[in-house]
Amino acid sequence: MAEIVLDTVTKTYPGITSPAVDALSLEIKAGSVVTLLGPSGCGKTTTLRLIAGFERPDAGSISIGEATVAGPTAWVPPERRGVGMVFQEHALFPHLDVASNVGFNLPRAERAERVAETLELVDLAGYDRRMPHELSGGQQQRVALARALAARPLVVLLDEPFASLDADLRVHMRAEVRRILAEAGTTAVFVSHDQSDALAISDTIVVMRDGRIEQVGSPREIYQFPHTRFVAEFVGRTNLLAGRIGEDGDSVVTDIGVAPCRHTHDLPPGTPVTVSVRADSLELDAEGPLRGVVREATYTGRSIDAMVEIQLADGGTADVLVHAHPEQVITCGDEVRFRVLPEFVAVIGEGGPG
Ligand code: ATP
Repeated sequence: MAEIVLDTVTKTYPGITSPAVDALSLEIKAGSVVTLLGPSGCGKTTTLRLIAGFERPDAGSISIGEATVAGPTAWVPPERRGVGMVFQEHALFPHLDVASNVGFNLPRAERAERVAETLELVDLAGYDRRMPHELSGGQQQRVALARALAARPLVVLLDEPFASLDADLRVHMRAEVRRILAEAGTTAVFVSHDQSDALAISDTIVVMRDGRIEQVGSPREIYQFPHTRFVAEFVGRTNLLAGRIGEDGDSVVTDIGVAPCRHTHDLPPGTPVTVSVRADSLELDAEGPLRGVVREATYTGRSIDAMVEIQLADGGTADVLVHAHPEQVITCGDEVRFRVLPEFVAVIGEGGPG
């Protein structure tokens, strides 16, 4: 069942010519974790604010659960939408202790019990009397989440909640927040411009561009089979190659070889296309059919990212990004051989990459 439905929602800010959100339609399933992902200014925060009720749509309608909360003849104010919010800066009340922050909006009769339950859920039992400044960044984050969840909202909206955390804590908190949301069973909508946050935390990623949806899919679908060049380049690094659909319809022929390809958009054999080949699909192999010269090699801990210049069939050259096992010794100027694996090959449009 869909918990949140946006139906052709448009929002244009006064004095701005192009809409911040442009006829956007989206269904979010109950209990799912969804991330609105895209570059700065693409309309993510505006979409979240429209769901929360901090902005009114100019056209279209929004429903949460059974109720239409915004539309031509409907308006439900933010405090009656059953929505909890978590902001980037946690925004705890600095003069209130943890228990008072979490219990702020709860009816007195159930406050103590629900505060205790929610602090247990976020692993902060016993922290009731601490003041916000006596907590670490990660603990403040969990208090903010507890406050949003305490009133048992239908939906929790999170605007860049990890942005102010340092890298290690961020990775830990992503997993922790995922666990807490799953345990609470709440539908959650995140806003992020960070693809690794989105890949790690979401059931569904909505990639946005210029107020519109570019692609909706699971993290795996978005990463492995981007539909457009924008998605291929925004979510991870990729190699864009000219090619054409193979005779069997389930492969692509590129200058670096023929690769099985499950995502051909059902284009007929022979159609010229642009192909996205993630570095994850290029495997260094002493017996591989492709040859190239390493131009750059960067050790990342998990792999060596090598930029390899290869000779193309037409006499030209192309630089492709290849991942090597960190134990492989690869340096600039080395000649290497590699092969194309099918897992991360996707057609992203007709015509060449230009
Ligand atoms: P960021 O990642 O930078 O927060 P975003 O994807 O969340 O960006 P929005 O904040 O939704 O994008 O903004 C979408 C567009 O609307 C941008 O062009 C922005 O400049 C404009 N905009 C946002 N808020 C207002 C406002 N209050 N008044 C006028 N224009 C606004």
